[in-house]
Amino acid sequence: MKKAIYPGSFDPVTYGHLDIITRAATIFDEVIVAVAINRSKECLFSVKERVSFLKRAREPLANVTVTSFEGLAVKYVRDNHARIIIRGLRMISDFEYEFQMALTNRKLAPDIETVFMMPHQDYSYLSSALIKEAVSLGADVKQFVPVYVAEALKNKILKNRKG
Ligand code: ADP
Repeated sequence: MKKAIYPGSFDPVTYGHLDIITRAATIFDEVIVAVAINRSKECLFSVKERVSFLKRAREPLANVTVTSFEGLAVKYVRDNHARIIIRGLRMISDFEYEFQMALTNRKLAPDIETVFMMPHQDYSYLSSALIKEAVSLGADVKQFVPVYVAEALKNKILKNRKG
């Protein structure tokens, strides 16, 4: 049984993340998408919202579950009796950060491997940060995220602006 864990902020999920999850689900027996509760990183959406967007998009896949976790990713992976971390690689700009993180995690937990996956080229430029910025400038982002995420982005960003 090969179980893999895909940790991240997913603030919010994009078609890039969803592409990685779908690919991972064809390779591993079980994929757990784990939304990080990171108190030092300010997120637009709550953990509950981020989990619910992901659940709606990918829990119909029989071997995918979505949950949240707090603290070290390697500890979470171990506690779940898994040995594989999945991360997505978009372009060279991701490489440095992902390389540092994978090697730090390997020092912390030599028994855990990080596996990098590349999304379809159509999604390789997508980032949650850029999508949030585009919405705040009035763009329609339905081609980058599921329609209910696009709606939630619009509502949240406009509400924040009014408040
Ligand atoms: P982080 O976990 O660094 O806060 P994210 O939640 O945005 O960042 O991303 C989680 C993982 O998914 C990271 O490995 C990131 O590189 C990857 N990722 C983000 N956007 C995409 C995309 N468009 N295509 C493929 N992988 C992506």
